[in-house]
Amino acid sequence: MNNLAERDKAIIWHPFTQMQTAPLPVPIIRGSGSVLYDANGHEYLDMISSWWVNLHGHSHPHIAKRIAEQLQTLEHVIFAGFTHQPAVELAERLLAILPSNQSKIFYSDNGSTAVEVALKMAFQYWHNLGKPRQKIIAFENAYHGDTFGAMAVSGRSAFTAPFVPFLFDVDYLPVPIPGQEDAVLAHAEVLFTDDVAAFIVEPLVQGSGGMVMYQPEILDKLFQLARQKGSLIIADEVMTGFGRTGRLFASNYLEEKPDLMCLSKGLTGGTMALGVTTCVQTIYDAFLSDDKFKTLFHGHSFTANPLACTAALASMDLLLLDETQSNIQRISQSHTNFSTRLIDYQSVENIRQHGTLLAFDLKVGEQTSYFNTIRDTAYNFLLDRGVLMRPLGNVLYLMPPYCTTDAQLAYAHKQIEALLTTIETPIA
Ligand code: PMP
Repeated sequence: MNNLAERDKAIIWHPFTQMQTAPLPVPIIRGSGSVLYDANGHEYLDMISSWWVNLHGHSHPHIAKRIAEQLQTLEHVIFAGFTHQPAVELAERLLAILPSNQSKIFYSDNGSTAVEVALKMAFQYWHNLGKPRQKIIAFENAYHGDTFGAMAVSGRSAFTAPFVPFLFDVDYLPVPIPGQEDAVLAHAEVLFTDDVAAFIVEPLVQGSGGMVMYQPEILDKLFQLARQKGSLIIADEVMTGFGRTGRLFASNYLEEKPDLMCLSKGLTGGTMALGVTTCVQTIYDAFLSDDKFKTLFHGHSFTANPLACTAALASMDLLLLDETQSNIQRISQSHTNFSTRLIDYQSVENIRQHGTLLAFDLKVGEQTSYFNTIRDTAYNFLLDRGVLMRPLGNVLYLMPPYCTTDAQLAYAHKQIEALLTTIETPIA
């Protein structure tokens, strides 16, 4: 186990990491609740739920027990021509909590594949109807994943730059942040025409794009406009799903329900990789035919893996407990209270919140050059003090597991305030 980080560095290529300049990775040996423990005896409060996946804390005993039991009976089986209890039960229980218009469940492996499947369903829906539509509308700075289709419908950025020639074109709408609603609506009236195949959004919160938040009322209006032109609506709830915005799904704040939904991350409580794409009956029906060419030709080796489905069932048991639901409200309230303290810092702007997601921008404009690398400064400052946060550029955010205690939240707040004080203290 010695020098795990060195052994890693010799042979492993990490995600979203410039390997030349990255410090050695932190070797984690154990996780419990909201805390990660490293090989050197340090503890880290996981305030980003390990890339937004963890809902109930690390190594949760209920999820671990259920997976261990499942492992004794069926670890995996091909999902074409076969089925199993965890997949069926999970589909039934998901449909019971999703918006009531959702009627079919398609399994895949992660958030990006959930989006790929939604896009393929949308394009092929129109194809199968014999009325092909090719236009997709997405929000500027959207992020829907790292595979090619998911990149295509994401905003163009440093992430996508080398691949732009290979990405299909998308028409972008600005994000209807507060104050911009009317302008976006006017723009949308021009963009939505009757050749739009689908409108894809991260409802209420654009995650990787910088935790950009907007209100349900304007999204409802945009959905109405899309619908008038027959466009399908895809809600990418990979990040917002399973309670993050205070309700089970961000779509629950909307009157207009999406036609397709993408789920992953919190689906298994952050235990195993699993993706789900759901759709309404009319989309499913467009694939039913004696003509084999109308089949949805998509599937992954590990489709509906029984262990992952079991993890999702166990996570749902926990999510629906009164205790978890009140923890979601408790964390939301804690964020609201913390916001009133953040207002006092000159280096803080654009404080925003939806449920258990709290974000704000660090004002870097007038800072000395020392703070030009504010993202790394903030990351290292907080990590040194045992708080794991991963600022998106100058955007700091908290997305804790729901089991995070008030004392743990208070500790994280204290370290964030220490960071802000340091930033605001002039360098001699
Ligand atoms: N959609 C959204 C909204 C996401 O936030 C992400 C991941 N951050 C994805 C899709 C892609 O999910 P994955 O990383 O599991 O492929």
